[in-house]
Amino acid sequence: MQFYKEDKDRLVCLLCSYYCKLKVGQRGVCGVNKNIGEKIDCLVYGYLSALNIDPIEKKPLYHFLPNTSSLSLGTVGCNFRCSFCQNWQISQTSNINKNNYFTVNEIVNIAKEKNCKSISYTYNEATIFYPFAKDIAIKAKEFDIKSVFVSNGFESAEVIDDMKGIIDAFNIDLKSFDKNYYKKSLGGDLKTVCDNLVKIKKNSIHLEITTLIVPSKNDSKQELENIVKFIKENLGLDTVWHISAFHPDFKELDLQRTKDESLKMAFDIAKSYGLNYVYMGNSDFENHTICKNCGEVLIKRKYFEVKQNKIVNNSCFKCKTKVDGVFI
Ligand code: SF4
Repeated sequence: MQFYKEDKDRLVCLLCSYYCKLKVGQRGVCGVNKNIGEKIDCLVYGYLSALNIDPIEKKPLYHFLPNTSSLSLGTVGCNFRCSFCQNWQISQTSNINKNNYFTVNEIVNIAKEKNCKSISYTYNEATIFYPFAKDIAIKAKEFDIKSVFVSNGFESAEVIDDMKGIIDAFNIDLKSFDKNYYKKSLGGDLKTVCDNLVKIKKNSIHLEITTLIVPSKNDSKQELENIVKFIKENLGLDTVWHISAFHPDFKELDLQRTKDESLKMAFDIAKSYGLNYVYMGNSDFENHTICKNCGEVLIKRKYFEVKQNKIVNNSCFKCKTKVDGVFI
């Protein structure tokens, strides 16, 4: 796919649903894609802000290759402006560290050497550096290394389609179910994010969803119910939903850390609507995977660590009921 198209005297960036129309010399909302005349250049291509080996559970993905390592990388910039961003030092800047350049081959070689089963595009918004992520993902496929996209879900329709056969798993933030809050305080728009979630599911790419519960912003019973209803009706009861605790950060230093009761309320709402796989992150709660049919504990976890995995052939070891996900 070509990541831009011409429109009179401008070039239109096709990476995310802002579709920024850029004159020569202009950068888009993300600050890191620029019309350089003959094309739109992804300025962060190859320039990393972070490179770590993380447990896949940290992305968080709980139903995708559990207990494996994922080579995790990010660049700088973002197309959203969330006031509670927990990675704001890299997401809300367009200053590129030119001393930290990696080629596609170098990254894939590191993943191979360190026995990582996947490479994750994470830390800042992955969509804005999709040209780089895509090249890595294609190379990684040669060695059966999967690719994981951690995103706010505001990809363009073109990019979502392009990802088929290239990106293997997503964790997408569904940050709220209030369209005005998305527009005014976060970025993008709720409908596009919801539409993309449905498209990803239809494209049969593994999908897990995360909602960071931010006190007073998105923690009302009604809003949580709306999120759960959307998941149930549009994505299905087997969709994995991570509800995660906020800690004061960036512009929200006066808000308190999310209380355990709020996480538990979200969890109970999800269970009352029948969601089968709900996990409470950044907390001391147990986050085991339970067979939806017989109730056996299938995966025992302690924080990001897998203590036991009794899933066999993607199914419960006991009653053989299928577990949604990708398991070794
Ligand atoms: S990635 Fe999105 S925000 Fe950045 S230039 Fe392209 S369309 Fe605009």
